Amino acid sequence: MHELAVFADSIAGCTKCRLAEGRTQVVFGSGHPQADLMFVGEAPGFHEDKQGVPFVGQAGKLLDTLLAGIGLTRSDVFVANTLKCRPPGNRDPLPDEIQACESHLWKQIELIQPKVVATLGNFATKLLSGRPLGITRVHGQEQETVLGGNRVLLYPLYHPAAALYTPRMLEVLESDFRRLPELLGRALEPEPAPEPAFEPPAEPAVQLGLF
Ligand code: URA
Repeated sequence: MHELAVFADSIAGCTKCRLAEGRTQVVFGSGHPQADLMFVGEAPGFHEDKQGVPFVGQAGKLLDTLLAGIGLTRSDVFVANTLKCRPPGNRDPLPDEIQACESHLWKQIELIQPKVVATLGNFATKLLSGRPLGITRVHGQEQETVLGGNRVLLYPLYHPAAALYTPRMLEVLESDFRRLPELLGRALEPEPAPEPAFEPPAEPAVQLGLF
């Protein structure tokens, strides 16, 4: 079994926070276990909790459409959430819940080794950037960082659920999304090899038979 699936099994009975009491199941995440592109949303909602898969509702349909626009499907990428269990009534995640759950996300990133991590909305963006700046300020601004021991490009995006009801936000999300192929290409470029330092030949060029 792939290491990621072993890890998913290992947290299926997680009781690190109060959300364990009301959930139907842990929603681990889904997609390619070695995806170059990983999305991190907020938390499972009603349908995600029932089906055990992230982003299956309206916001998920929009995510699928946005992915199709750049020639990708859900099986090309990995989709996870900041919280793996549904908060009651879809309320916002609480700080202690984020803290209890974050080690699961770090481990996922460590195992998947994505090149680009796109955060969807405020909660994932603030957690993964380690900064309090909100999504309105930082969306569309990629930042190189180290997550789960891997060098990645962190790329904050508006949450699709917010964009569903705000046409202007949808336009911005669409235009930010269109930069993903470029960012994936950039992130895949190997580090440029350092310029070899010029070393004069040990012997005069004439004796080396160069002339
Ligand atoms: N919103 C999220 O952030 N995650 C889901 O899985 C569904 C909706």
